[in-house]
Amino acid sequence: MERKTISLPRLSGLTPTLESTMLKITEEVGELAQVIGKFRGLSGEREVMADAEVVRAIVSELLDVAQTATSMMFVIEDMYGIDMAEEMERHVDKLKAKGYL
Ligand SMILES: [Mg+2]
Repeated sequence: MERKTISLPRLSGLTPTLESTMLKITEEVGELAQVIGKFRGLSGEREVMADAEVVRAIVSELLDVAQTATSMMFVIEDMYGIDMAEEMERHVDKLKAKGYL
């Protein structure tokens, strides 16, 4: 099974909540959609970036989504005592059960 390991930091200077991280994930997903659609000329608007620039922007926004999801994981661990490492194994088990692995 091929895996991609993401290790992103807990941000300091912020006091994230479930709600604030949910809003931020939505915002970052919107930015990702904008790059994938608008800047590749798929939205019908005439605002097109060069391919290499778009790929870098896609990666940047995708990592913003991952960072925000990571922040929500820290919130969930802090608030509910959930062990995300265990949950990730449970997630993989779920994927296996669904036949995706
Ligand atoms: Mg962003």
